[in-house]
Amino acid sequence: MHLPIRTVTPESESAAIIGWVHEIRDLGGLMFFLIRDRTGIIQVTIPKKKVPAEVLDAARDVSRESVVRVRGRVKAIDKAPGGREIVPDGLEIISLAGSPLPLDVAEKVPAEMDTRIDSRFLDARKPRVRAIFCIRSAVTCAATEFLHSRGCINITTPKIVAAATEGGTELFPIAYFEKEAFMNQSPQLYKQMMMAAGFEKVFEIGPIFRAEEHNTIRHLNEATSLDVEVSFADHNDVMELLEDLIVYVYESVAGTCGDDLAELGISLSIPGKPFPRIRYEEAIEIANRTIEDKLSFGDDLTPAAERAIGSGIGQHYFIVDWPTDIRPYYAMPYPDRPELCKAFDMMHPRMELSSGAQRVHDHDLLVERIRAKGLAPEAFEFYLKAFRYGMPPHAGWGLGIERLVMTMLDLGNIREAVLFPRDRHRLTP
Ligand code: ATP
Ligand code: MG
Repeated sequence: MHLPIRTVTPESESAAIIGWVHEIRDLGGLMFFLIRDRTGIIQVTIPKKKVPAEVLDAARDVSRESVVRVRGRVKAIDKAPGGREIVPDGLEIISLAGSPLPLDVAEKVPAEMDTRIDSRFLDARKPRVRAIFCIRSAVTCAATEFLHSRGCINITTPKIVAAATEGGTELFPIAYFEKEAFMNQSPQLYKQMMMAAGFEKVFEIGPIFRAEEHNTIRHLNEATSLDVEVSFADHNDVMELLEDLIVYVYESVAGTCGDDLAELGISLSIPGKPFPRIRYEEAIEIANRTIEDKLSFGDDLTPAAERAIGSGIGQHYFIVDWPTDIRPYYAMPYPDRPELCKAFDMMHPRMELSSGAQRVHDHDLLVERIRAKGLAPEAFEFYLKAFRYGMPPHAGWGLGIERLVMTMLDLGNIREAVLFPRDRHRLTP
């Protein structure tokens, strides 16, 4: 049996470990190895004259990033990582790594994003990269815990669909036997149909596919969305649910991911509740004070506008009461001012994290809204049907998991927050 490297302490007498060769240094009479597993790094010191011949042979043959098994005596030593080292009685090469390596796991030589993704399995051996994905795992786990605790049912909806959620061109067509089908942009229509099913509160964490042609640091062609839909709720109710979720997830990560945060050099500050609410009209006014390309009513916020507003506010916030014309047909217009709707975006100072709204639950109004967007209600018959036999009022939102992780950990590029990014130029690995 081997031990996780972290559990080997200066007080241990002996240890048997398995790991990857992180670094090799040969100082003549002495050889030093750093051996790494997902729990940490340990130094292995080989006094050439004092170890068995097999150990010395293996030490000479082994290359960086090979998998080795080491057993030996543990000595306390101040200068080594973790204050201990192993002097081996046994050193066995389990899997020899080829050289040169496609990238340097020890990060002495920096690598471009593309090189890193091309060899993502090697890149993810870096403690810093692994820490990001351990935190991402904690984020989705905490979100699931939180939503279960609020009575939400975890659902799975189809990703191969016949119709676009919102019309438009951001769709990947696929061949589905003798028909044309699409990769789903969002679970929107399906989660709403589950409101008609009386599930009342649902959530899904799953892929969304967007055929956006532009390459940016905050867009992927395959992203992960946390979608929530709640019956007998309005936009204000689900905004509260969303800010509670964000705070819960931050607290949970701060409480359970101390080592990973330390690896990344981050001390997480928990967002304060309630997040400020700014009306769309106020938002463009604030942005127009500093940005060059001025916005007028009915314009979507540009990235420059988002940054201008965000830097003034300096924390998570909501933009509410959007022009009906620039939101999807399913967003509920205010009855007394139908040019505005009960839609919101939840923002991090750097970018949008989530969009949501109270939805139209009246069948005839929904048909009218679909037509107003220039879409054909016939294409949405499977969806509209759910509005004809008792549809409760409902509201919900979709939150991008990669953007949540990216902003939480202050990552420069969304590709840092996804193992195998899909973008305009990348379909492998
Ligand atoms: P943006 O305007 O920033 O491109 P959007 O308004 O098109 O985003 P929505 O359709 O509102 O995105 O999707 C809800 C959330 O899903 C977004 O706030 C974002 O966090 C995430 N998301 C949407 N599209 C992408 C994408 N292409 N890559 C990564 N995350 C995305
Ligand atoms: Mg949006």
